[in-house]
Amino acid sequence: MEQTLSIIKPDAVKKNVIGKIIDRFESNGLRIAAMKKVQLSRADAEAFYAVHKERPFFGELVEFMISGPVVVSVLEGENAVAKNRELMGATDPKEAAPGTIRADFAESIDANAVHGSDSLENAEKEIAFFFARREIL
Ligand code: ATP
Ligand code: MG
Repeated sequence: MEQTLSIIKPDAVKKNVIGKIIDRFESNGLRIAAMKKVQLSRADAEAFYAVHKERPFFGELVEFMISGPVVVSVLEGENAVAKNRELMGATDPKEAAPGTIRADFAESIDANAVHGSDSLENAEKEIAFFFARREIL
């Protein structure tokens, strides 16, 4: 059993498709172990995406992530990290496989509907960034 962190990004929250995205997880063997809606501060977004600090798109990424509330959740299941990445589809929705979350709900590489941890190690760090142990059930 693995746990991974998912973020439904501001574009998808604005489009009112939180439920549709959660359904993709639940219909594909992932269980919601924790969930909350949060408005990230600039400091939160900069810290969360610190690995991308030197990338040319860092500023836009931070602006986008604080442009409205996000829904953060812990997904649990077999191979949860890889399974979530598979359900999300490629970073650029134009390259995302048909039927993936990004193919169906994302507009562009910056407004790409969801985030998912990219390794078990990062999943643990990202989960700890957002949730206390007693909130993960
Ligand atoms: P995420 O980390 O959000 O799950 P990812 O792992 O598919 O997405 P990363 O390479 O980690 O992609 O990039 C983090 C985020 O930065 C992407 O989701 C996207 O919103 C943004 N991003 C990545 N590459 C670009 C780019 N070339 N131009 C603009 N934004 C980008
Ligand atoms: Mg990433």
